[in-house]
Amino acid sequence: MSSPLVTGTRGICLRCFGRAFGKEGSGFTNLERGSNFLSSNRDKLEQNGYVLTSDEKCSICNGLFQNLDKYYDMISADLAKIEFNTILVGSTFDQETLSAESAFQEIFGNLGESIKKEFNREFGKYLSDRTGKVADLAEPDLTVLMDLRYDSYKLQNRSVFVYGTYRKLRRDIPQTRWIHRKDVDASVESIIGEVFKGMTEGRNYFLHGAGREDVDVRMLGNGREFIIECTEPRRRSVSLEFLKQTVNAGNHGVEIDGLRFANKSDVIGIKGSTHDKSYRVTVKFTGTVNAEQLQYAAEKLSGKDIYQRTPLRVSTRRSDLIRKKSIRSVSVEEIGSDTAVIRIRAEAGTYIKELVNGDEGRTEPSLAQLYGGPLQVNSLDVVWIHRNGD
Ligand SMILES: [Zn+2]
Repeated sequence: MSSPLVTGTRGICLRCFGRAFGKEGSGFTNLERGSNFLSSNRDKLEQNGYVLTSDEKCSICNGLFQNLDKYYDMISADLAKIEFNTILVGSTFDQETLSAESAFQEIFGNLGESIKKEFNREFGKYLSDRTGKVADLAEPDLTVLMDLRYDSYKLQNRSVFVYGTYRKLRRDIPQTRWIHRKDVDASVESIIGEVFKGMTEGRNYFLHGAGREDVDVRMLGNGREFIIECTEPRRRSVSLEFLKQTVNAGNHGVEIDGLRFANKSDVIGIKGSTHDKSYRVTVKFTGTVNAEQLQYAAEKLSGKDIYQRTPLRVSTRRSDLIRKKSIRSVSVEEIGSDTAVIRIRAEAGTYIKELVNGDEGRTEPSLAQLYGGPLQVNSLDVVWIHRNGD
C-alpha cells in the first residue's frame, strides 16, 4: 500500500522542475531539462517536501501552460481588429506564484528561469503559430500584456511613422497645432495628420519636424524633413502614394513628397539635423533704396560670423543667450523703389528677421546696421535646405 502524502508536501510538475535548471546548458526545453535532471535530484526533491505531479496539480504553475488556448480565445477578437506584423508578449504574475517559484529554485542553487520568462516565450510562440506573425523583442508592432492575476490583458499598439518632406506655400499656418489658439485650425501637422489618421484608423497624430519656420514664413524649394506619427493604428500597410496624392490634392497650401515608412529612432535623427538654409527676404526701406549702400552691406555680411542675442519676440519661450552664427552668403536679387529682394544662406538656427533688422542692437552686425538705416522684413521664404552638402 502506498503511504499518503505527508502534510505540507507540495506538487511540482516536470516543467517547473526543469525550469529550476534553466541556466544549465542551452538548446533544451524545460521539459527536457526536467527529464535530464530528475533521477539525480529525486531525493533532494522529496527531502524538501516536493513530489512530482501533473501540471494541473503543480503548486507553481497550476497547469498554466495547458491554458494557452484559453488565453488566445480571450484576446483573439481584439487581435483581429488590428493589423500588425510583429508581436511580443509580456505578463504579470501574482506574488504568491513568484515566491513559491523562488523558494523552489533556491533548493537547486537559483539557476532557474522565471515562469514569467517562460510564459512570455511560450505564449509568444503560440501566438506566432496562430497568427503567422513573427516575434520582435525590440520594437514589436503589438505587445500583448497578460495579467495572470486577474485573467485580463492589454494590447499596446505601436505608433506608425512616415518620413517625408513638406513644402508650406502659405503665410498663415503654423507647423503644429496650437492648443491655446482654437481660432487657428489649420497647421502643417493637421493637414497631413488628418489624412494619415483616417487611413490608419489611429487615435491621434503628431508631426515631428526637422526644425520649424515661423507662421508667416513659407517653406519652399526642396522642403523640410518631417515624420508624421499616428498612435494606435488599426492599419499599417497604407499606401504612401495615396497619402501624398490626397494631401497634395487638398489645396491646403501644404505639399508633401519623398514618403517612406520610418520608426521612432528616426525622429531623433531628423530633430538633430543642422543644415544650412537659404532664404529669400523682401526688405522694406524707409524712403528710396540706396543700391550702392545695400550692395556694400550684402558684401560685408557675406562670410561673416554674427552674434545674436535671443530675439525679443521669442525671449519668453527661449533662454536669453548670445549665439554665434555664420552667414555664408548674402546677395541682392532685385531692387525696387523702396523694397529689395535679398538672398541669404546661413548656418542652422540663425534668426533671419533679426539678421536683417538688427533687433534693436541684439544682432550684430546686421544688414540694417551695415546699410546705415532701418530695414524691415516684408516677407520671408525658406528656399532651400542644404541637406546634401550642396
Ligand atoms: Zn508547474
